[in-house]
Amino acid sequence: MAASAYSFYSTLVLQPLRTPKSSTAVSLKTPTFTCTSLANSNPKPSKRPTMDAQKSKGKYRRKSSHGTSRRSALKKTFNQEQVSFTAPISDDPIVAIIGGGMSGLICGLNLEKRGVRSTVFDTGIHGLGGRMGTRVVNPQPLIFDHAAQFFTVNDSRFGELVDAWLDKGLVREWHGTLGELEVGGQFVPFPSAPPRYVGVNGMRPLADSLLSQASMVNVVRPSWISKLEPFNGMWHLSENGEPRGKFDAIVVAHNGKCANRLLSTSGLPLIAKQMKRLELSSIWALLAAFEDPLPLRGSAAIPFEGAFVKGVDCVSWMANNTKKLYSSQGSGPHCWTFFSTAAYAKRNKVPQENIPTATVEKVKRAMLEGVEAALGLSKGSLQKPVYTRVQLWGAALPTNTPSIPYIFDPLGRAGICGDWLLGSNIEAAALSGMALANHIADYFQSGGAPAEEFAVGLHKDFQPLEGHDIGQFPGLESEKKMNEVQAYQLTV
Ligand SMILES: Cc1cc2nc3c(=O)[nH]c(=O)nc-3n(C[C@H](O)[C@H](O)[C@H](O)COP(=O)(O)OP(=O)(O)OC[C@H]3O[C@@H](n4cnc5c(N)ncnc54)[C@H](O)[C@@H]3O)c2cc1C
Repeated sequence: MAASAYSFYSTLVLQPLRTPKSSTAVSLKTPTFTCTSLANSNPKPSKRPTMDAQKSKGKYRRKSSHGTSRRSALKKTFNQEQVSFTAPISDDPIVAIIGGGMSGLICGLNLEKRGVRSTVFDTGIHGLGGRMGTRVVNPQPLIFDHAAQFFTVNDSRFGELVDAWLDKGLVREWHGTLGELEVGGQFVPFPSAPPRYVGVNGMRPLADSLLSQASMVNVVRPSWISKLEPFNGMWHLSENGEPRGKFDAIVVAHNGKCANRLLSTSGLPLIAKQMKRLELSSIWALLAAFEDPLPLRGSAAIPFEGAFVKGVDCVSWMANNTKKLYSSQGSGPHCWTFFSTAAYAKRNKVPQENIPTATVEKVKRAMLEGVEAALGLSKGSLQKPVYTRVQLWGAALPTNTPSIPYIFDPLGRAGICGDWLLGSNIEAAALSGMALANHIADYFQSGGAPAEEFAVGLHKDFQPLEGHDIGQFPGLESEKKMNEVQAYQLTV
C-alpha cells in the first residue's frame, strides 16, 4: 500500500505527464506559484494561535503567468507540480470549503461535529444551496424550485439527517401524486413509498437553514474564490486578487468549468485530473405561472403534482410547485417548473451567462409545445402563462462517477466532495460531504500520518451514471415497472 501510493506520486506527480521519465527518488519539491501579498489575509482575524508559526521548509518562488486560454489551462493542469505540505498539523486547524451547496454545507457541519472549524465560501447572491435553488417572484408571490425538486432517502446516515430536519420543520414529506406521464396524457402514478421530501418553503430555505445553529462554520457569501495558493504551510485563498484567508486544508465542493479553472494552477494535479474526468449534462428549466389549473385530460385527469415525462423530446419533468409547496392554497397562479431532457439541452446549448433572446424564445416555445403534447392537448390550446422564465443549467448533473464518497490528497491537504462522487442527487451530495469531513478530521487527528494512509480516490476510474435526467431516486418506480422487474426476477 505504502509503496504503491508513493510510487504513484513519484511517477505521476513530480513530473509533467508529457515527459515520461522513470523516477525512483521521491523528492517532493515545493511548488512554484505566482502569489500576491497575503499579509492580513484572514477576513476575521482569529484570536487563536497563529498558524504562521508552522511553516513548511519549502521556498516560495515566483513564476510567470501562462495566460488563460483553454489550451494553456489544460497544459497547466497536467504540468503543474504537486504541492506537498510538510508542516505539522496545527492544534486548532481550519478548513476552507469552496462551495455552499448540500455537499459543502454538510461537510462544514460534520467538521464541526468533530471539533474542526471551517469557512464556507459560496457564490450565491440570493442564498446558499447551489443546485438547490428556489426563486420567489414578488409581489404575488410566485414560487419555484428551479433545480432540485424533491429527494428520497436510501442510506440510513442520510435518513438520520432527514429525521433531524423533519424535527426542526425544515423539510416535510411531499404527499402529492407523482408518477410518469406518457406523451398523449397517460399518467401512471408511483406508489406512495418510498416517501419523498421537499424543503418547507423550497429547497433554498432548507440550504440556508442548515448552518443556522453552527458555531464553528463561518459563511462568506457571495464570494467567488478565484485562486488557491499554497504558501508557508497553509492554503491562501483569494477572490480577484483580494485575500480571503489562510487555511490548513481545502475542500473543493463544486465542479465543472469553475473547479477545473481553479484547480488548473493549484498544485493539485491529481485532484485536478480526477475533476476533469467528470462529465456533466445540461438541462433547460422553464418556470411558468398559469392563471388557471392546467387542463388535465383522460387518464391524466388524476391531479398529479409531479411527473417524469416520457416520449417528449424536450421535456423530462414537470411539477406544480404551488401545490407542492403551498398545498392548501386554493386559488392564485399555478407555478410549474418544467425541465428539458438532457438530449434537448445538449442540442440547444448556448453560453449560460449570455443566453440570446432568440434562444430563450425558441426554448420556451418548444417546451410549452412539449407540455401540450405530454398532456395530450391539441396544439396551441395550452393557456398562455402569466409569467415565464427560462434558465439553462449548463453543468446540471453528472453523467459519470468514480463511485467513491470523496477524493483526498493528503500531500496537498485538499479534498473534493459533491454529488458526482457517488451519484446525482441531494442524498449523494450530503453523504459525500459527511464522509470527507470525517476523513479530514481523522487526518488532522493523526497529526499528518504518512500520506499513503490517507490518499483516497486519486486514481479511481469513472463509470457511467444511470438515472433520470434530473437525478437518481432509488426505489421510486411506477407499479407497472416494479411488476415487470418482479416478473423478470421470477423467471430468472
Ligand atoms: C435541473 C436540476 C434538477 C435536479 N433535481 C433534483 C431532484 O429533484 N432531486 C435531487 O435529489 N437532486 C436533484 N438535482 C441534483 C441536485 O441538485 C444536486 O445533486 C445537489 O444539489 C448537488 O450539491 P453539491 O453540493 O454537490 O453541488 P452544488 O449544489 O452545485 O454546489 C456547489 C456550490 O459551489 C459554488 N461555487 C462554485 N464555484 C465556486 C467558487 N469558485 N467559489 C465559491 N463558490 C463556488 C456554486 O455557486 C454552488 O453554490 C437536480 C439538479 C438540477 C440541475
